[in-house]
Amino acid sequence: MSYQVLARKYRPRSFTQFIGQDSICRILKNALQSKRIHHAYLFTGPRGVGKTTLARLLAKCLNCRESVTAEPCDQCTNCHAINENRFIDLIEVDAASRTKVEDTRDLLADIHYVPSQGRYKIYLIDEVHALSANSINTFLKKLEEPPPHVVFLLATTDPQRLPTTILSRCLQFHLKALSIDQIHQHLATVSQNESVTYEMGALQALGQAARGSLRDALSLLDQAIAYSNGHLTERDMKILLGSTATVEISTLLKALIAHSSEQLWSIKEELSAQAVDFIQVTDELLTLLHRIALAQVLPEEFSRSDETIQQISQQLSPEDTQLYYQIVLRSRQDLTLAPTPCLGFEMMLLRMLAFIPLNDSLNHVAEEIHPTDKLLPVPLEKNPPLMESTEPIKATELDNTIENAVVDWTRIVKQLNLTGITHTFAHQCVLQSYTNNHVTLLLDPKQTALHTSKQEEKLAQALSRFFGKPITLSIRLGNSNIPTPAHYEQQQKFQRLQRTTEILGKDPTVQAIIKTFGSKLHSGSIQFLDKD
Ligand SMILES: [Zn+2]
Repeated sequence: MSYQVLARKYRPRSFTQFIGQDSICRILKNALQSKRIHHAYLFTGPRGVGKTTLARLLAKCLNCRESVTAEPCDQCTNCHAINENRFIDLIEVDAASRTKVEDTRDLLADIHYVPSQGRYKIYLIDEVHALSANSINTFLKKLEEPPPHVVFLLATTDPQRLPTTILSRCLQFHLKALSIDQIHQHLATVSQNESVTYEMGALQALGQAARGSLRDALSLLDQAIAYSNGHLTERDMKILLGSTATVEISTLLKALIAHSSEQLWSIKEELSAQAVDFIQVTDELLTLLHRIALAQVLPEEFSRSDETIQQISQQLSPEDTQLYYQIVLRSRQDLTLAPTPCLGFEMMLLRMLAFIPLNDSLNHVAEEIHPTDKLLPVPLEKNPPLMESTEPIKATELDNTIENAVVDWTRIVKQLNLTGITHTFAHQCVLQSYTNNHVTLLLDPKQTALHTSKQEEKLAQALSRFFGKPITLSIRLGNSNIPTPAHYEQQQKFQRLQRTTEILGKDPTVQAIIKTFGSKLHSGSIQFLDKD
């Protein structure tokens, strides 16, 4: 037997098989059961959601030999003929390919003859909006006074283009685009029937790419099965769909929630390396945020099938979800205007980072960045002149400047390549003196916990390497008017933050969001994408 495409093989043959249009199905079933038959039905809605399929089903309900019914027998000659597209009294036309008035006249020439096989003569006119103005007029005359044995079934993706004279004579049904979950579930059922195994993420990716069209989803599934040899992996699907390849879009949100600018940056780098379409990535991010928003309002309904959605919808507040959605939506428009989409995408990430709300989990960041008076003992301009320089310091330089003990410890520490606690320890000290191969450091009295003989030994070793001779070290407790490296870096961070807040404050998108949400830009929530 020749291969039948899935969209055709799984075309619903009854109302119960119909996916995603429950209320329309209910209305039609009730009408059929009570034999209230209208002479013209108009099915509107996006492509691939089942408009003509529903029209054919209705044609079968009207022509089943048993009776006019909501449950056609699917056994009689009429039901068979309609299922197989060869029912003589079902006249199907694609108006887009037959727009001329002559075509319409031809089509309607036999309208007064009674049906030869069925109960009703059915005219199914797809893409009816494409008919020319003259065709519409010809058609309208028949629609105004159709013979009793005729039923018109019209379908269009674009009802706005139909004149009201047509609209007012039809019973109109608007079919909705299917949700990703509805498509996902249907794809799972079809895959199981076809003995195809799959990862959840694979069907999710297909469902998303179908953009609400069940027909597209099934066509994609056809391709996916051919591509993957019977086992659908998420990775394969993303490659097939040319989407974000191996990067999970949800990791972007997870990095934002974790306030991890490093992680966010590395995901962005990975996306760049894969030469992804940043507009598509942005669309995926929007879809994800939309689903999270739904899951927050109706957790039972929308987060059941997806662990990631469930997780993020609990970690992110509904307000933040809305805020992120707005930022991404507005930034999406800028993507095409930015010098490169990648640059626009980076700007979007910056905006999202800038708007991280000052909640509990962030307080530590805020405290760290918002310096108290205590943390800023010396205004930057009063710093020792060496502080201004970012040039690496040479060990020999120190011998000349050491007498006054005002030496740039910050610059030395940078070159010691310390890690872990030793790094932190050295950052809380200032250099008090350096004489006869002996270094004396002043440790902030609040940081005594960092001082152990092990740390002291490690630091002495690092200094010996730096000066190229054995160095002994002693640590004293006390405060200095010279900032420690830790304080100095905080000052730097604070100044950078002020500059960035200023720049972001002038950003038109940020201003629009501030206006829309009546929100304020918290400089404490700004994080930098690099590690400085
Ligand atoms: Zn039948």
